[in-house]
Amino acid sequence: TSIPPVGQLLHAIHFAALKHSTQRRKDSAGTPYINHPIGVAHILWYEGDVQDIGALQAAVLHDTVEDTDTSFEELELEFGNEVRQIVAECTDDKTLPKAERKRLQVENAPKKSDKAKLVKMADKIYNLRDLQREPPADWTLDRVREYFLWAQKVTDGCRGVNGKLENILEDIYQSGTFVY
Ligand code: NDP
Ligand code: ZN
Repeated sequence: TSIPPVGQLLHAIHFAALKHSTQRRKDSAGTPYINHPIGVAHILWYEGDVQDIGALQAAVLHDTVEDTDTSFEELELEFGNEVRQIVAECTDDKTLPKAERKRLQVENAPKKSDKAKLVKMADKIYNLRDLQREPPADWTLDRVREYFLWAQKVTDGCRGVNGKLENILEDIYQSGTFVY
């Protein structure tokens, strides 16, 4: 499109903020959900040196279809086919049982496009840091540990596209659930 990248990114942030406006993270502070997708894009730019506009927009939008009334058609209309495709690669099929969705994330990660792998890695970095900071009140330590082990299987399948993000994930897995 002819819109400069900063405008394209602002449009994605604005769109995601409206879509996630009533949602909160699972922390005791009830942090606005939009902090997460913005933070995932922030990790890509500032920690992964990722400057690809489609990947950054997809990071901001990655949970809109999974967690709001947003459709893929809507994403394509607003942001084009590439962003739609990256978000699709990062969207679980919610008609499947949770355990199956988690298994498929591990199985499918290596088959994803490079840009989807970037978003997946940054998404896991953000969520693992959240868990290290403060797990949801109703989570047992075992559940936190299981999440770390599962996330590692997913991100192992995303290796080969960004060494910086890989190293950050490696450090997180080494420090683990230590804070408890
Ligand atoms: P959930 O998928 O329910 O929660 C984790 C997800 O919540 C994250 O991936 C993230 O997704 C989002 N999220 C929102 N706020 C936070 C936050 N503050 N910190 C971290 N993540 C946050 O949990 P599980 O991954 O555990 O999935 C459920 C699975 O766990 C099922 O397979 C179920 O069978 C099993 N289970 C296990 C239990 C146990 O004790 N071991 C108990 C109950 C269920 P996003 O990026 O989309 O925001
Ligand atoms: Zn996410």
